[in-house]
Amino acid sequence: MRVAIAGAGLAGLSCAKYLTDAGYTPIVLESRDVLGGLVAAWKDKDGDWYETGLHIFFGAYPNMLQLLKELGIEDRLQWKEHTLIFNQPDNPGTYSRFDFPDIPAPWNGIIAILRNNDMLTWPEKIRFGIGLIPAMIQGQKYVEAMDRYSWREWMKKQNIPPRVEKEVFIAMSKALNFINPEEISATILLTALNRFLQERYGSKMAFLDGSPTERMCEPMVEYITSRGGEVRLNAPLKEILLNEDGTVKGYVIRGLHGASDEVVTADMYVSAMPVDVMKVMMPEPWKQIEFFQKLEGLEGVPVINLQLWFDRKLTDIDQLLFSRSPLLSVYADMSNTCRGYENPDKSMLELVLAPAADWIAKSDEEILQATLAELEKLFPDHFIGDNPTKLLKYHVVKTPRSVYKATPGRQQHRPEQVTPVSNFYLAGSYTMQRYLGSMEGAVLSGKLTAQAIAEAHPVAKSSSLQMQTLQPATNAATA
Ligand SMILES: Cc1cc2nc3c(=O)[nH]c(=O)nc-3n(C[C@H](O)[C@H](O)[C@H](O)COP(=O)(O)OP(=O)(O)OC[C@H]3O[C@@H](n4cnc5c(N)ncnc54)[C@H](O)[C@@H]3O)c2cc1C
Repeated sequence: MRVAIAGAGLAGLSCAKYLTDAGYTPIVLESRDVLGGLVAAWKDKDGDWYETGLHIFFGAYPNMLQLLKELGIEDRLQWKEHTLIFNQPDNPGTYSRFDFPDIPAPWNGIIAILRNNDMLTWPEKIRFGIGLIPAMIQGQKYVEAMDRYSWREWMKKQNIPPRVEKEVFIAMSKALNFINPEEISATILLTALNRFLQERYGSKMAFLDGSPTERMCEPMVEYITSRGGEVRLNAPLKEILLNEDGTVKGYVIRGLHGASDEVVTADMYVSAMPVDVMKVMMPEPWKQIEFFQKLEGLEGVPVINLQLWFDRKLTDIDQLLFSRSPLLSVYADMSNTCRGYENPDKSMLELVLAPAADWIAKSDEEILQATLAELEKLFPDHFIGDNPTKLLKYHVVKTPRSVYKATPGRQQHRPEQVTPVSNFYLAGSYTMQRYLGSMEGAVLSGKLTAQAIAEAHPVAKSSSLQMQTLQPATNAATA
């Protein structure tokens, strides 16, 4: 059975990978000339990679880790020390750490929080702990119900002092969804805390050892194509053709550079495109169906990624850093963290600028200057004085619509992978799964789509064993 999948991001590739395992023939159709969607990367004229985003893998990503294992490339993840490191804005150039001892959860997390006295006072830690009690007792049901509040509203409701937000959760909100605590849904933070506090290595982080396109997406394509599937770049879906009964008849692929359009037909069809594109591509008759109408409530959030190459080493920290700057979110010196970008003498900082709504229309030069002004605070020793560091080159990648913006009330707009149209499915990190808008969410969504197809339209070779989906255990000890 042939399955046409629009979009070669992680969701589309994961769906195709698991469909090949189950005996189907996927045909992945990607509009751009690069694999990976939000993890896409390009080589510049010097041979250096620049990326759509700084990407971190967590211990709490079971489906991503299983996928990498199945591809035989799990050794490409470079695991870091189990710690969260925050810049201290009141003391430029210094850091505060949450070090997780190697003992079972939740004790490792509790000790990490209790031992950190730079950021939170004891009364603040106690108030925060008490605030989390309903989540601990009621579990995931409570976490989902809190989607009606922003994180700031939830903290106020739980009597948690506003300083806790300022010290820790502005940085966490920006890292998780590129927006601030007054905008982000409480469900997002509670879900992350749940994973981090419930799983011993949940918050342990890893960096890929090179560009995600080359080191992660290409092996997926090799896996798919060596088993009879197809992955086509420069193949943008232009229109979804319907039969009279509203099911999909074919995908019209736009002919590029003067070539004529082509119709790709298959037994089943998947959209693994971003939700913003899916909304535009929606066939008229489907707009009457409530399931598809709900997508109107979802929209991608803007974000900007910067990579800056310097003439010297700015730091030897081999870990992600939370900048706690109003302009920037997380960053890392990739010359330390990533084998493929390693340089013992010169730093290459990769930084996420968020919230980016006010910056997305500005020029690269304006964005660069504002970022350099922030870096003076993060690395005062290297930017101020007689011999300041020199910027050798930079790249700015703007994504006006990235992952869905997780404001309160979004959970009810996230669709299941199975749609009311019998031969049409959705995949993508915006679709309903437990891991929100993340790489793990994208991989899991693709797998859930493949599973749903295999269940509804079985073929002889279908193997449920290979498609085992790993969802976190839910019990009362959540969050
Ligand atoms: C700056 C940044 C930092 C991030 N950091 C992290 C992180 O640290 N950890 C983490 O887990 N996640 C992170 N994410 C989120 C993660 O990248 C995404 O959740 C995930 O990659 C989304 O995958 P997807 O397949 O659902 O969607 P996408 O990656 O958006 O894939 C959709 C694909 O569809 C294609 N497409 C669009 N239109 C068409 C068309 N007409 N026809 C055919 N194809 C089409 C697109 O080109 C794209 O390839 C980050 C994202 C960004 C932007």
